[in-house]
This record gives sequence, structure tokens and C-alpha cells, in this order.
Amino acid sequence: MIPQQQTSLSEQELLRIMQKMNELLPNLSCPMCKNSDFVIAEGYFNNPLQFKLPDLSIGGRSIPTIGIICQNCGFVSQHALKTINLLPQNLK
Ligand SMILES: [Zn+2]
Repeated sequence: MIPQQQTSLSEQELLRIMQKMNELLPNLSCPMCKNSDFVIAEGYFNNPLQFKLPDLSIGGRSIPTIGIICQNCGFVSQHALKTINLLPQNLK
């Protein structure tokens, strides 16, 4: 049987992220359009670090982030989970 792939963050994760973003960025406005309505991306980004260009290495060191998305212009702001203390337990 193929294990079911998780296709979105849990409500608990989204709530934790929302609370942290509100705490860190209480007066958030989009740097592009100045809109103040954002949503949280429904999954994490995991940006793989590259040490030898132009090779592409996947599966090594990375910077896991959460994205918040401007509801007006679509600008995506990524925030490193480790820095904002939201790294999931299995990645610490
Ligand atoms: Zn915007």
C-alpha cells in the first residue's frame, strides 16, 4: 500500500504559524503594493543550498521556510523556520 502523502499543513501548524507571524509582524504591509491582507502558504518551502554551480543538488542542506502571500499582488515573503523558532521537531 502506498503511504498517503500529506498535501497541506495541519490546522495546528497553520495556527502556530499565524500566531508567530502576527507576533513578529504586527503591522505587516506588502513591500510591493502596500496591501495588508496576506495568507499563509498551505505548505513549507524547502530551499536546497547549492555549493557548486551550475550543478543542482537536492537532498542536502536546505533552508526550510514558510511563505506568506499578498492577497493583492501575489508577492511571496519567505521566512526561515529555524530563525522564527518554528522548525518541526523532526528537523531540529
Ligand atoms: Zn502586494
